[in-house]
Parts: sequence; C-alpha cells; structure tokens
Amino acid sequence: MASIFTKIIQGEIPCYKIAEDDYHFAFLDINPVSEGHTLVVPKQEVDYLFNLEDDTLKSLIIFAKKVAKAIDASLDTIRTGVVVEGLEVPHAHIHLVPIHYEGQHVGLGKKAEVSKERMIELAERISEAFKK
Ligand code: 5GP
Repeated sequence: MASIFTKIIQGEIPCYKIAEDDYHFAFLDINPVSEGHTLVVPKQEVDYLFNLEDDTLKSLIIFAKKVAKAIDASLDTIRTGVVVEGLEVPHAHIHLVPIHYEGQHVGLGKKAEVSKERMIELAERISEAFKK
C-alpha cells in the first residue's frame, strides 16, 4: 500500500506544497514544531533514510539544502535545524525545522499552534523563495 507521503506526492491527499522536482517533494508538516516546519521526501518510497542508494540520498540532501535556504530567506530565521526520525511514517523524510529564536525547541515532541491561513501564507512565502 502506498505511504501517506506517496499519496500526498500523487495529489490524492492535500498538502501545503513547497516545491518538487522529478525526484523530490517538499511540503509543510501538518503538526509543525515551529512555523515553516517542512518535510523533504524522495518520490521513491523507501522506509529508512539510510537504505536509500547513495546517489538518491545525495540528491535528497542537496534538494533539502535548497529548501532550507528558501526557508531561511523567506522567514528570516536564525537558521534551519534538521531532524530525522521516521518512526511514524515509513517513507524516508527529512524534517527542516526553522529556528526563529535562541533556545527554541527543535526536536519533534512539542508542536506549535499554526492556523490554516498562516500555513497557506508560510507555504507561499517559502515556495516563492525556492524559485529564486
Ligand atoms: P516521523 O516519521 O519522522 O516520526 O514523523 C512524521 C511526520 O509526518 C510528523 O511530524 C507528522 O506530523 C507528519 N505527518 C504525518 N501525516 C501527515 C500528513 O498527512 N500530512 C503532513 N503534511 N504531514 C504529516
């Protein structure tokens, strides 16, 4: 059965999309740790990040870098943190967690309250910066 992220990539489940290319897809995490928390996934459905082929992992990281730079530029972050856990969704993904202030929580436990309107605005801002 297709993973929930494959369903998102295929447009069967809606998301706040940031960017995609032939091999990668980025969208806002529905339960964000901070405003702009983004998931970067390979279109190829592999559970464990470190089971990806070297070239796939390499290109995923480079795509994630571009997304992180777009987050930093559009949301004026201190920087963007990276978390990989993968215990909930069996489709490899990288969490990009924007750090907005010193001492901000970056781990996955604690969630931020972000309205639907704000999620739309954040996705648009990051997406626009990604295109530059
Ligand atoms: P992990 O597998 O790394 O523990 O976490 C999976 C992440 O995927 C969680 O942060 C969760 O909020 C996010 N997530 C799970 N289902 C959906 C979904 O349907 N849409 C979006 N945008 N994010 C999801």
